[in-house]
Amino acid sequence: MPAKKSSPRRAAKPSRGPLAPERVEAILKALDEAYPNAVCALNHRTPWELLVATILSAQCTDVRVNMVTPELFRRFPTPAAMAKARLSEIEGLIRTTGFFRNKAKSVQGAAKKITEEFNGRVPQTLAELITIPGAARKTANVVLGVSFGKAEGVVVDTHVFRIARRLDLAKGDTPQEVERELMAVLPQDRWISFSHQVIHHGRQVCIARNPKCRNCNLETLCRSNDKTWSS
Ligand code: SF4
Repeated sequence: MPAKKSSPRRAAKPSRGPLAPERVEAILKALDEAYPNAVCALNHRTPWELLVATILSAQCTDVRVNMVTPELFRRFPTPAAMAKARLSEIEGLIRTTGFFRNKAKSVQGAAKKITEEFNGRVPQTLAELITIPGAARKTANVVLGVSFGKAEGVVVDTHVFRIARRLDLAKGDTPQEVERELMAVLPQDRWISFSHQVIHHGRQVCIARNPKCRNCNLETLCRSNDKTWSS
């Protein structure tokens, strides 16, 4: 009996779905073209200042945060100084950022934790950062990426969450799910820049209501139901 011919192994067909490598690459290229120099918009001089500014930026614009942090850091320049501050004084200085009572508690809690457990220095791992009051994954990823150039995760704020879903890069219903999906689909050396670029895109073009699709250089790659214009 003739030996059964084994069928030749065929190379897997390249996926043509939304996560096809060539599509992801095209999205990253378009983001590079539109936002070649995107950086974090929160003013800071040290990892500690960035950590505090990021805590304050919850439900608040970066512009507003940048208005209060110079005086906050002039009065309390180090975690040790902030740890000893009167809570009411911190509250008064950050009042205009909203939710100021909770934010003041978080900032002082972070200052105490860093002073007492991390020798006054902001830690450089995600596992340690998320133990700091007020610093969940998003804040930890911001500090790691911007201050230390470390990509342990992807920053998923409201803009990244919305746009990753509009661009079909993620389907998750929570920032954690979207982050996991983005980590699976994006090359790790793009995790930091992708978030910066998408945050800029979300502020300038792909805004929550009535995105400016006519001005969007990702338009031909986007099939979102939220589109306001199609070529
Ligand atoms: S085409 Fe519209 S919805 Fe899609 S990414 Fe651009 S601005 Fe956003």
